[in-house]
Amino acid sequence: MKHLMKTRRTIIAGNWKMFKTVNEAEALVKGLLLELPDVSSIDVVLCPPFTALSRVADLVSNTSIRVGAQDMHWEKEGAFTGEISATMLRDVYCRYVILGHSERRQLFGETNESVNRKAKAALSASLRPIVCVGETLDEREKKDFRAIITRQVKESLAGIPAEQAEEIVVAYEPVWAIGTGRNATPAQAQEVHALIRTSLVALFGDKYAGNMRIQYGGSVKPNNAAELLGQPDIDGALVGGASLEARAFTAIIKAGL
Ligand code: PEP
Repeated sequence: MKHLMKTRRTIIAGNWKMFKTVNEAEALVKGLLLELPDVSSIDVVLCPPFTALSRVADLVSNTSIRVGAQDMHWEKEGAFTGEISATMLRDVYCRYVILGHSERRQLFGETNESVNRKAKAALSASLRPIVCVGETLDEREKKDFRAIITRQVKESLAGIPAEQAEEIVVAYEPVWAIGTGRNATPAQAQEVHALIRTSLVALFGDKYAGNMRIQYGGSVKPNNAAELLGQPDIDGALVGGASLEARAFTAIIKAGL
């Protein structure tokens, strides 16, 4: 599907979460490379677990597909057992890093402040952060979820120079839609994407905010991808479950071409 009105380059990323051994990752990438047409007109990013980054980067090295990590620490190095730095991710050819995924916010104590530190460190290392924001079901039903999302964007991206803004991708991921099979309707998603863009304009100004990509994530599947991606402020998708299967992920990518 062509988006003639959009000047922003579509970005489709697959978040593999804690799935795939190195051999399984290799099989998935080989399957994808067999299925995919030429995708050089958009950005396709694979985010495997840390252990498979190197192999996946190797397998896609002659293609336009890029590799991303699912988290990182903000320090360059040090006594931080279990952590990994932006420099280490660059060392295995990562170009992107997902930050503040709702699973990290909910299960591992990630805050807007830690996401902010990580985003700054990622940018300093020439890694493009994919910064996730989104409301829980409770927040959508009982609270002003618009204020919550606006605050997540503001605090996660505070103090970043406007000239670096275009390197940042924001992912709107309503928590109630992640892994549930219940996606936001295209209209619901578009409303929040427009709200996020307004926050980005307030932070970085029209010129830079207008070029920033905002992805939708939450049960994106082959049967709903085209309609979601057709919305004016939806510039791509962050895909969980459906990115673990070559056919399904290929179909979603094709919807973005
Ligand atoms: C995600 O994990 O970022 C995600 C959107 O998952 P799913 O597509 O499975 O809902």
